[in-house]
Amino acid sequence: MSAPLDLLIIGAGPCGLAAAISAQKAGLGARILDAGAVVSTITQYPYYVSFFSTAEKLSLGGVPFVVATDKPSRRDGLAYYRAIVRHFGLDVRQYERVTRIEPDGAAFVVHSETLEGERRATSARAVCVATGYFGSPNHLGVPGEELPHVTHVYHEGHPAFQQDVVVVGGGNSAAEAALDLWRAGARVTLVHFGPTFDKRIKPWVLPDLQNRMNEGAIGARWNSRVTAIEPGVVALAGPSGDDRLPARFVYVMTGFAPNMELLREVGVPVNEETGIPAHDPDTLETTVPGLFIAGVVVAGYDANKVFIENGRFHGDKIVARLLGRPVPPAPRLSAELDT
Ligand SMILES: Cc1cc2nc3c(=O)[nH]c(=O)nc-3n(C[C@H](O)[C@H](O)[C@H](O)COP(=O)(O)OP(=O)(O)OC[C@H]3O[C@@H](n4cnc5c(N)ncnc54)[C@H](O)[C@@H]3O)c2cc1C
Repeated sequence: MSAPLDLLIIGAGPCGLAAAISAQKAGLGARILDAGAVVSTITQYPYYVSFFSTAEKLSLGGVPFVVATDKPSRRDGLAYYRAIVRHFGLDVRQYERVTRIEPDGAAFVVHSETLEGERRATSARAVCVATGYFGSPNHLGVPGEELPHVTHVYHEGHPAFQQDVVVVGGGNSAAEAALDLWRAGARVTLVHFGPTFDKRIKPWVLPDLQNRMNEGAIGARWNSRVTAIEPGVVALAGPSGDDRLPARFVYVMTGFAPNMELLREVGVPVNEETGIPAHDPDTLETTVPGLFIAGVVVAGYDANKVFIENGRFHGDKIVARLLGRPVPPAPRLSAELDT
């Protein structure tokens, strides 16, 4: 094994990339390992979605992210983050999943496996876990959920043109998928176990969907649970008893849960209720000295607290801790500087 790195970052999402840039700017040697491609979470967004943030709030390392529209598209984001990796010459190893973090005296050995099955071990003085929250989908746990016409990720509506489909869930992803499917000509029924939509649904999405439901263009089954999925059919239990809905495709939009196993295995306590790994909020260092967290992992199961917008500054805290310096304030946006 070669000399230990100063910082090994697990996850090449926007927050992992930002942490590597912070380390590089401070003169530290950093490497990132990712189980997939860089910013693989963004590759999983619906194909034609736009970010809700402005480009500036998604930018990294002070490199301007310029688009001609008010909000960047998914493709704009992918192109920008690829450019960021090239611009800073970041040492990213894609398609290399980290399987274990092993404390080794004052350092760590990080065990990983490539797509081709090659096992590797990398030594680092500090490790940052920035693995995001797309660890695994929240399963319904019903028979048939693994069938090929069932998906937990929504890409686009076209394949469902003039087909019966069922969307399961009551949050943003379900609401946006239902609308997009309907616009692509699908016959959509939304099924949710609650009496109405989740409270945190985007304010501009809700009236659009409610209007479609009021006019009968999109069906809704509230207080209903999916009990089984079969080819072409979704079985339900609802207020008026059992029912069977026709469904060529089923979109289970029930969210994702972060995978905290790497942290748990190395001895970091994870709060059962919140999913938050024990850490110092000022430095993002966990209870294992030299082991840090960054990005959405910091917020545990709450997907509405840390975004690219704020998680992109986590690396600065970590680097400050590694160098024994005070944490610099988050840079101001150009709109703030203009006032
Ligand atoms: C449709 C949609 C739109 C969004 N729009 C915005 C927006 O406008 N503004 C905003 O701020 N946020 C937005 N978000 C949220 C944003 O995507 C997340 O906050 C962001 O991706 C989190 O970044 P991260 O670096 O913490 O984790 P992620 O981007 O999830 O990256 C984690 C990386 O870790 C890798 N990984 C996981 N496990 C391992 C392992 N064991 N070994 C190696 N690698 C591993 C994954 O492959 C992944 O590449 C949006 C989310 C969605 C779904």
